Amino acid sequence: MKKDDCIFCKIANGEIPSRTIHEDQRFRVILDLSPATRGHALILPKEHAENLYNLPEDTAAAVLVLAKKLAVTMKERLGCDGLNLVQNNGEAAGQTVSHFHLHIDRKSVV
Ligand code: 5GP
Ligand code: ZN
Repeated sequence: MKKDDCIFCKIANGEIPSRTIHEDQRFRVILDLSPATRGHALILPKEHAENLYNLPEDTAAAVLVLAKKLAVTMKERLGCDGLNLVQNNGEAAGQTVSHFHLHIDRKSVV
């Protein structure tokens, strides 16, 4: 279910334009507005959940399958020495947008 005042609901469901690198029935993957590195992407479920605590289990499983596919594609196309998956839950952990999102952040030594 979409939440009306949630910016990531609007982005994930295409109401606000974004730099989208992948979209399917359940997810939209966008480039971060303030990328930590080139290609820094965010996986957004289209259905609203604030964080990992209330993310449905089937979405939690599907998000990692998608992250794996994107990681392989990013490594092949962009090249990188390493790659981080980061997912913040709650303000104290640095979560600034209250709609579950998984960061995919590629790292290069040079
Ligand atoms: P958090 O700190 O909540 O884990 O990460 C939120 C991320 O969302 C940040 O990296 C921030 O740059 C990104 N972000 C916030 N608002 C927008 C937006 O409107 N569009 C895009 N593409 N990224 C956003
Ligand atoms: Zn939302």
